[in-house]
Amino acid sequence: MSNIKKWEANDHWVEINLDLCAGSGECVEVCPVQVYDILDGKVDAEDIAECIECGACEGACPYDAIISHSAWK
Ligand code: SF4
Repeated sequence: MSNIKKWEANDHWVEINLDLCAGSGECVEVCPVQVYDILDGKVDAEDIAECIECGACEGACPYDAIISHSAWK
């Protein structure tokens, strides 16, 4: 079973497969509003409430770890 974690706030949400996440930080670099951090080698989206649904993070992840997001529902 995949290790999928969902963060949500203020009608924004993102689901990330932490088995695929390598903690390489492309999402951290590309997000214009600092939604993401890397904690203990995996992504953390604690600040999902700040999301402006630009879609950049999904395209930036080389591992396709971002499996669904409020911007693409
Ligand atoms: S959709 Fe844009 S604003 Fe929202 S988390 Fe992804 S990169 Fe950040």
